[in-house]
Amino acid sequence: MYKLINKTISRVLRSPQYLILFVSGICWMRCRHCWYNEEWKDANLQHNQMTFDELSRLAESIPFLHFLSLTGGEAFVRRDIVEVAEMFARKTRLNRYQIPTSGFMTDNIVKATEGILKVNPGIPFRVDVSLDGPEAVHEEVRNIQGGFKNAIATIKALNQLKKRYDYFDVGVITTVSNQNQHAVEETGAIVEKVNPDGEWMVNITRGKPRDPCAIDVDVKNYIQAHQLIDQRIAEGRYKGHGGHLLAQWLSAKNAARRQAILKILKGEMRGGGCAAGSLGGVIFNDGAVFPCEMLEHSLGNIRDYDFDLPRIWNSRRADEIRDLIQDTRCICTQECFLSVSMLIQPRHWPNIVKERIKLMKTTSVEA
Ligand code: SF4
Ligand code: SF4
Repeated sequence: MYKLINKTISRVLRSPQYLILFVSGICWMRCRHCWYNEEWKDANLQHNQMTFDELSRLAESIPFLHFLSLTGGEAFVRRDIVEVAEMFARKTRLNRYQIPTSGFMTDNIVKATEGILKVNPGIPFRVDVSLDGPEAVHEEVRNIQGGFKNAIATIKALNQLKKRYDYFDVGVITTVSNQNQHAVEETGAIVEKVNPDGEWMVNITRGKPRDPCAIDVDVKNYIQAHQLIDQRIAEGRYKGHGGHLLAQWLSAKNAARRQAILKILKGEMRGGGCAAGSLGGVIFNDGAVFPCEMLEHSLGNIRDYDFDLPRIWNSRRADEIRDLIQDTRCICTQECFLSVSMLIQPRHWPNIVKERIKLMKTTSVEA
């Protein structure tokens, strides 16, 4: 059934509605948990990054885009990041977008963020800053001095912007690895203090990290982070997503997703129904198009398809990869793609509604 659903989605919508676009291969950090490391890039990417004109041709081919993540490396490294965000919003009739960042170059990030907010008025935009633990832990994980103080300064400065732009939101992302798993509770307390009105997203190390040991995570520590968030929701201390009318639905979806991840980790959920390659897709900075970040099956390079995303997305190769994903009942805990897949998997819908009601109740208790 999911083969037909995914094929139909691709034909009708013509291109992914949840697009992760790598706009830079460069990064200020050298995180130990990073799968997007030199070894991975050498093995998988060509080294000529897409120019603004090439990105513009790509955007031109996209009829409509629900969600765009401009990522890297570090997207804010691009001097033309404001222009890229404006151009995509205009050409793709973009509904919502996000930039994840290490938060290292505070002034640069805050200035570019405000520039983006000004050129795209009213379009929900979120910046997610990475915070992997208390100062010593964060800097050990990220291999950089000053990384913690700068990330905190960035979160605080972005929250000042949030007060002035009601379509802007600030999130914090923590990636649990072998190096910070002992500090989950401490990290959660810091996040609650510096970003009390936003979402805390907790990921687990995946792929082949720069430091192979980074992946040795005791799942109970990852689960602990999820429990901390659920506890805050229950106590009315958690605001979650903001910046648009459906924000609380996204927080509810994230709560349901946390439960799904637990089931996957415990082996209690069957694979099948992943929407990578239909609703969701990834384009790397050299133009390589993939269904997701985890599978090593490329649909091809957008440069070889005249920057026409619907053409590559509806090619025979794309159909084969979509079918392969369903035939193998591919399953993983990649948070972004799990979110997208939950939209086409009815088994998750009652849980999302339940979590939304829970959020409504705790918000009203707090009010
Ligand atoms: S995890 Fe992100 S911030 Fe860290 S090195 Fe990799 S791309 Fe850069
Ligand atoms: S289950 Fe995970 S690895 Fe498999 S296609 Fe979906 S996102 Fe990719």
